[in-house]
Amino acid sequence: MTVRSDGSKPSGPVALSLSGGGMTLPLWFWPSVTVGYLAMLHAAFAAGVLRGTTGGDWLLLAAMFAAISFGCTVGLHRYFSHRSFRTSRPFQFVMALLAGAAFGDPIAFSARHRLHHAESDTEHDVHSPKQGWWHCWFGTLLDYDLAEAEMRTLVPDLLAIPELRLLHRWFFVPGVLTVAGTVWLGGFQAFAIGYCGACLLVVHAGSAVNYFGHIHGSRRYETPDRSTNHPVVALISLGEGWHNNHHYYPAACRAGFQWWEIDILYYEIKLLSWIGVVWDLNEVPERIRKCQAPASASTSAGS
Ligand SMILES: [Zn+2]
Ligand SMILES: [Zn+2]
Repeated sequence: MTVRSDGSKPSGPVALSLSGGGMTLPLWFWPSVTVGYLAMLHAAFAAGVLRGTTGGDWLLLAAMFAAISFGCTVGLHRYFSHRSFRTSRPFQFVMALLAGAAFGDPIAFSARHRLHHAESDTEHDVHSPKQGWWHCWFGTLLDYDLAEAEMRTLVPDLLAIPELRLLHRWFFVPGVLTVAGTVWLGGFQAFAIGYCGACLLVVHAGSAVNYFGHIHGSRRYETPDRSTNHPVVALISLGEGWHNNHHYYPAACRAGFQWWEIDILYYEIKLLSWIGVVWDLNEVPERIRKCQAPASASTSAGS
């Protein structure tokens, strides 16, 4: 459970006036749905593999992973949370829908993520290895404690956009439609390998950044948190694992600051800028990029 910065904890049923589709639901409702959803992703994917797969199944997984991970990382993280580049309102909505396929909500995600940056590795953080592996990897996904009123103070820029407010209110609709559409078009196997496989990769890569990106690896920059750069995590998260860089200068549209720090998401943003879909990329200032001396030695659990 998230502890508020004033030390208070939420109690009683949460009036999910926006994120519950306008309904007032008991506190346990959405966490229980999320547990069921995560269990379904794992079970369906395992069942799909056991049934036997084809090359087409894995191609579909790759395509769905490319689309959903783009929505969740370039969209939810680098655009909505950090506003590290600009784009048109239609493409902004496309990114929100791609994230919505995996039940990502720009307003809720960005509010929680901005809180993570503001309170990183303190007791008020929404996910930190200090709270234990389970919470950091899974528990934070079940945490619906951030009240709407608090959310409003964290993302006033996003709440000013009507279509994002609508998506926040009905955040489950794009995901339900994606699941239904995948089953309708490709049957169980497309759902199990394509959709569930892609969502599992996105969930676990994100959790790997949240956990290992704050406990294992090297620190180039001195930051108040314990963020680290980890090449393996960076590879599986398409660039997000250069997490110490990101915590030091989160406004940048890239997390890999050096040419050798592979950052697939940055290359995607750059490609889109060349064809005019996105613009005003916030690059890393030279004086920050050239700070190459390690601020401290490698960190590890318990250090
Ligand atoms: Zn972090
Ligand atoms: Zn961030």
